[in-house]
Amino acid sequence: MTQQQFDTDVFVVGGGPAGLAAAIAARQQGFSVMVADSATPPIDKACGEGLMPDGLDSLRQLGLSISGNETGRFQGIKFIGPEGTVEARFPQGEGIGIRRVLLHQQLLDFANSLGVQTLWNTRVSGLQDNGVVVDNRVIRTRWLIGADGQHSRVRNWAGLSAARERAKRIGIRQHFQIKPLSEFVEIYWGAQGQAYVTPIGKKEICVALISKKKFVSFEAGIAQFPALARHLENAESTTAVRGAITSSRRLDSIRSGNVALIGEASGSVDAITGEGLAMAFRQAVALSHALAANDLSRYQAAHRQISSLPSFMAQSMLLMDKSPWVRGHALRAFSRKPALFERLLSVHVGEAGLGNLGMGGMLTLGWQLLVA
Ligand SMILES: Cc1cc2nc3c(=O)[nH]c(=O)nc-3n(C[C@H](O)[C@H](O)[C@H](O)COP(=O)(O)OP(=O)(O)OC[C@H]3O[C@@H](n4cnc5c(N)ncnc54)[C@H](O)[C@@H]3O)c2cc1C
Repeated sequence: MTQQQFDTDVFVVGGGPAGLAAAIAARQQGFSVMVADSATPPIDKACGEGLMPDGLDSLRQLGLSISGNETGRFQGIKFIGPEGTVEARFPQGEGIGIRRVLLHQQLLDFANSLGVQTLWNTRVSGLQDNGVVVDNRVIRTRWLIGADGQHSRVRNWAGLSAARERAKRIGIRQHFQIKPLSEFVEIYWGAQGQAYVTPIGKKEICVALISKKKFVSFEAGIAQFPALARHLENAESTTAVRGAITSSRRLDSIRSGNVALIGEASGSVDAITGEGLAMAFRQAVALSHALAANDLSRYQAAHRQISSLPSFMAQSMLLMDKSPWVRGHALRAFSRKPALFERLLSVHVGEAGLGNLGMGGMLTLGWQLLVA
């Protein structure tokens, strides 16, 4: 499909999960695809490492099923806080916890098998003459995809407005050798933030701490969640602590000319939603269809739709983070009425629309919050 004036149909800047997903989906539409990343695979990043059932569905739409023994499984979400504990199972399917480097390797192997060309340890330094500048030469491309993360330079080069940031928090994660604490992803709520625990193997968990304030140390962070601290008392850590910024941000436009943004380069939702990866996989499929139709406006519309529910959920959970009053009332209400939490979880994983919560559900939630 490559026309003579181009070296490739699609060039992807950034080979993280979003970039590789975009490359896979574009390749499946018959485009020739090159990906460049300044890092060397498998690429690690601080992450909660959970893929909810809807994220796994999106991966399957890309043609990839996560396999291997080194994954953990979870059946739903559990909230644990001083004001109450509540758990809910996914209406369908289960989630998977997988080390970030293993997920990256699986995406990379799949991309390679489809014939995606990859350039590792390669920084893209600018845009020029319908192409990208790589190692002092220009690679000409029909389409350019910016998958270069939250500080995207492609976004600036393409003149796309800086994202409007709603909330910025710091996340740190570490792995521990210990049997998963339960068959849920556990989210511990505290005064300074949240700790969330994902099973990533038969005897391994990933613990991510997220807060507005920087933690003095991982141990000091864990100490803010006494119930979790007790579980981890004798558990051996298997990795060094790794940190990253998580934010909720939205862009007015995620395309300009032949350039489109994907993943965190195109906006993000707070990590607490556990939806960042799923969103990127869905965006990748939508983008590939827009490229095939030669119409990036389709991608803009699909991108907005993909982001809307996770953005709403992120705002609701950040409200619980910001206001002890809301958090206390919500946890009490959910513990008294687990069915409401179950319905919220089905909405969160896309099994039910917000409308499905119904006016009755919304009113019940509001009422329960007031009287809790
Ligand atoms: C603490 C924390 C916990 C999280 N937990 C979860 C979770 O449980 N589940 C979930 O789904 N999501 C989670 N997320 C969100 C998830 O990590 C992100 O959605 C995901 O990393 C976005 O992937 P990306 O490919 O867009 O960006 P990145 O993973 O940041 O990849 C961008 C890539 O671009 C490369 N790059 C940048 N500039 C250039 C350049 N000029 N040239 C070449 N390469 C370049 C970088 O090297 C990098 O590899 C979490 C995030 C945080 C911070």
